[in-house]
Amino acid sequence: MGETDEYGKTERAGRTDRAWIEVDRGNLLHNVSELQRICGGKCALMPAVKANAYGHGDVIVSRILQEAGIQDYCVASVDEGIRLRRAGISGQILILGYTHPDAFPELKDYRLTQTAVDLDYAGKISAYYGNSIAVHVGVDTGMHRLGIPYDRTDLVEKVWALPGIRVTGVFSHLCVSDGLTEAEDRYTREQIKRFDHVTEYLRAKGIAGFQTHIQGSYGILNYPEYSYNLARPGIALYGCLSSAADRVRAEVSLKPVLSLKARVACVKDLPAGEAAGYGLTYTAETVRRTAIVTAGYADGIPRSLSNRGQAIVRGRKVPVIGRICMDQLTLDVTDAPGVSSGDEVIFIGEEGGNRLTAEDMAEAAGTITNEILSRLGNRPGRLEV
Ligand SMILES: *Cc1c(COP(=O)(O)O)cnc(C)c1O
Repeated sequence: MGETDEYGKTERAGRTDRAWIEVDRGNLLHNVSELQRICGGKCALMPAVKANAYGHGDVIVSRILQEAGIQDYCVASVDEGIRLRRAGISGQILILGYTHPDAFPELKDYRLTQTAVDLDYAGKISAYYGNSIAVHVGVDTGMHRLGIPYDRTDLVEKVWALPGIRVTGVFSHLCVSDGLTEAEDRYTREQIKRFDHVTEYLRAKGIAGFQTHIQGSYGILNYPEYSYNLARPGIALYGCLSSAADRVRAEVSLKPVLSLKARVACVKDLPAGEAAGYGLTYTAETVRRTAIVTAGYADGIPRSLSNRGQAIVRGRKVPVIGRICMDQLTLDVTDAPGVSSGDEVIFIGEEGGNRLTAEDMAEAAGTITNEILSRLGNRPGRLEV
């Protein structure tokens, strides 16, 4: 797709890239309807498409979501919002974090909604542009990150009193909704209670016409009995839980949206007793058949998976050996007969009944899927399948 360049070629993307990402439209739509079902009819999804839609490709993902009727999106920065507008996303786009006042003109020009991270900051927005920028007020109900403290309802109320400010929402964020211990459950319900207290206070003061939201993925999946105007799913929308070990209360079927693939560059034997790669960290005990693969840590495969990651090639799971390089890595394909140059290699995805998930990769790397996915490089092309 795209325009022809001076060499008469159009942009290549996807399977001819050395590493690429496939976005499964059907699975994304499936997750949308699952989350919508759990949220209930009165709540609209406002997907988190920040960080390039958790590495999936924000434009691809948002266009699919828009076609599916999604009208609200959240991002982390002005630039992410602008990318969506340029891609033709027309609904509400909320910036969840801080925006430098020098970028306030962009908020206005691109019709982006800005989070008021505290009262002082709301004052800056008000002073700058009068009533042209829409604002959602952040309320800190216990995470102690952004927002006006929940017990300072007087300060929350003051945002409305700022000259010309246009407040269209009030929201908070849960910090232990992924945990189901008694203490975590109690804390989450307390956060929700504090949030309700703030919105009830505002309504009692005659303030109305604002949207409310507090649930991310785990807020939806573990506290489905609560319902607000909007919910902000990220990771679950992409068909993942943060960790394989997580359990959630709602009955839900999530399907992974992303696959990460690359190619075998060449195949060779590593003789017994020889070591391979930077630092010579792997030594062959017996002769090994190795495949050098066209993906590395600059594509998002954590270097910590050196000598411990896995991939699927010719339908078989095989181990990473030696250090992962910036652009390449090595697999031991001794047990996957017939591997040859040009073969497809799957790091996240499935083939031949074998499956590697983002959860598997996250667990091996000692992190969560959110980090694995959002750190996928910008070098792999993204394509919809
Ligand atoms: C990233 C983010 C989300 C989405 O979180 P998930 O756990 O991925 O669903 C929701 N709300 C806020 C404020 C966020 O920063």
